[in-house]
Amino acid sequence: MSVLTPDPLQRGPLQIVEPLRGRNDLRRNLVGLSREELKATLVEAGLEPFRARQVWQWIYWHGVTDFGRMTNIARKTRDRLAELFVIERPQIVTEQRSVDGTRKWLLRFPDGNEAETVNIPEEDRGSVCVSSQVGCTLSCSFCHTGTQALVRNLEPDEIVGQFMVARDSYGEWPTPTETTRMLSNIVMMGMGEPLYNFDNVATALKIAMDEQGIALSRRRITLSTSGVVPMIPKVGEVLDVNLAVSLHAVNDDIRDTLVPINKKWPIEELLAACAAYPGARNSRRITFEYAMLKGVNDSDADARELVRILKPIHAKVNLIPFNPWPGAPYECSSNNRIHRFAEIVNDGGLSAPVRTPRGRDIAAACGQLKSESVRAKGERVRL
Ligand code: SAH
Ligand code: SF4
Repeated sequence: MSVLTPDPLQRGPLQIVEPLRGRNDLRRNLVGLSREELKATLVEAGLEPFRARQVWQWIYWHGVTDFGRMTNIARKTRDRLAELFVIERPQIVTEQRSVDGTRKWLLRFPDGNEAETVNIPEEDRGSVCVSSQVGCTLSCSFCHTGTQALVRNLEPDEIVGQFMVARDSYGEWPTPTETTRMLSNIVMMGMGEPLYNFDNVATALKIAMDEQGIALSRRRITLSTSGVVPMIPKVGEVLDVNLAVSLHAVNDDIRDTLVPINKKWPIEELLAACAAYPGARNSRRITFEYAMLKGVNDSDADARELVRILKPIHAKVNLIPFNPWPGAPYECSSNNRIHRFAEIVNDGGLSAPVRTPRGRDIAAACGQLKSESVRAKGERVRL
C-alpha cells in the first residue's frame, strides 16, 4: 500500500513514498476475480469451497488488504493464503483535491501504465468516475483522453480497484448502508470506451453490484458510451445499468467530426439501439451527453433538432459546458447561449440540466483526463 504525505492545503499532488511490491513477488491478486473464479482459485489452493464467501466478504465488504485480519479463518489457512495471494489496489501516484471537493487519483498499474479516477461529491451522494482503458482509441476531437496514444484495456481488478481506492481514501469500509454512503455511485465516464472493453468492465461492475461486498445497486451505476451500437443490447442483457450516450451533435456531418465512431454507427442506428434498451422506461431514462461547443453545435436550430430526434426515446439531456485543455481546437459556448439552448430543450419536454463543471482546477472535469506521465511528455496537438 502506498502512503500519502500530508497536504496542509488539501490540494495539489500528493506524492507516493513507497514502491510497488518487488518484481519477483509472483503472488496472485484476488481482487477482480468473479465469485466463481475466486472459488476455483481457493479450492485449487486446498481450501474448502465455502471459504470463498468469507474471503469475498473480507475483501469487498470489509475492505481488508491483509489476510491476517480474516478472523473467521484459521491462522494456518490465513498464512497459506498470504503465501500465495495478495489483495491489491492500483498504486496511488498522486491524489489531488479541488477547491470544490472533487478528488482525483492518478493510479499506476503493475506494468507501469497509468489512468485517472475522480470522485465528484454532491450534497447527498458521490459519483466515482472510473476509467475503463489507459487512454482511448477513439479520437473524439474535443476530448483530451482521445489525444493519448498509449492504450490498453484495464483488467477487472484495475477497474473495481479504482472504486476501492476511493473508498480507502474516504475511509468508507466496511460497506455502509445505502443511505449513508459518501461514495454512492459509479459512473463509467473516465478514460476509455467501456464498450471496447466490455468483458472486463462487466466483471468489475458485477463485483461492485454484489450484495455481499461493495453492494452498489444497478440503479447507482451509469455506463457511458460514445456509441458502440452492437454492444448496447449486451449492456442491457448482462448488466442492466443506466445508460448514457455521448451524442454531442444532431446531424451526422457534425457528429462525424466530433465523435468519429459516428462514421461507423450513425445517429439513426445509435438512437434505434437506445430506443430498444431494456431499461428505457420513464423511470430510467437514457442520458444523452451534449458538450456545448461555441459555433459548432449550439444554435437554436440544433436545440430544436435535438428535441425532435430524442422525442421517441425516454431521454434526458446533460448539457456539459466544454472543458478546455491545452491545444484544444474548441471553445465553450457562452453562458447565455447555453441557457438559451437549455430553455429550448426544456420547453420541448426534455429535462436538460446544465452540468456545473467540477474539478477544473485539477483537470478532473469531463474530457480532461489523461495519464500524467503522458501529459508530461508533451501534448500531441491535433491539426
Ligand atoms: N468514452 C466514453 C466515456 C467517457 S464519458 C464516452 O465517450 O461516452 C466522458 C464524457 O465527457 C463523454 O460524454 C465525453 O464525450 C465528454 N467529454 C469529453 N471531452 C469533453 C470536454 N473537453 N468537455 C466536456 N465534455 C467532454
Ligand atoms: Fe474516448 Fe469517450 Fe474521449 Fe471519445 S469522448 S475520445 S470515446 S474517452
